[in-house]
Amino acid sequence: MENCIFCKIVAGEIPSSKVYEDDEVLAFLDISQTTKGHTLLIPKKHVRNVLDMDQATAETTFARLPKIARALQKATGAQGMNIVNNNEEIAGQTVFHAHIHLIPRYESGDGFSINYTTHEPDFEALGQLAEQISKEVAQ
Ligand code: 5GP
Ligand code: ZN
Repeated sequence: MENCIFCKIVAGEIPSSKVYEDDEVLAFLDISQTTKGHTLLIPKKHVRNVLDMDQATAETTFARLPKIARALQKATGAQGMNIVNNNEEIAGQTVFHAHIHLIPRYESGDGFSINYTTHEPDFEALGQLAEQISKEVAQ
């Protein structure tokens, strides 16, 4: 897609530090390096994000994650890894070509943190919401 920075990286029009490539996907180091080794995995085919992704693209893209994650851990000596995917602006997406962040973790305070708000469980509301979502999944 024209004017898509990641399509330009796929086409080799913009340089990147590649860590893995095959016919379907590309993985390269994120320029921001939130932690050492911060990597992005993308489908070569332009798709906006997971909310727009077909199953075949998801299968090829997400299937590559464990192999790349293990290699990244081995190469960096990280203790663990956050695997993050932002969809739409509200969720922090700034580049609108689907990508998965692999963020190696070394220690708390290493540059990345994740905070979840937690609430007391309301089991009736949970049941109703699950039913509503499962109806949509079945569509
Ligand atoms: P998002 O915020 O959309 O989830 O993540 C986009 C990521 O792409 C950011 O972490 C940003 O650092 C990275 N990024 C943006 N432009 C480039 C680029 O030209 N090259 C590389 N390697 N990463 C980029
Ligand atoms: Zn693109």
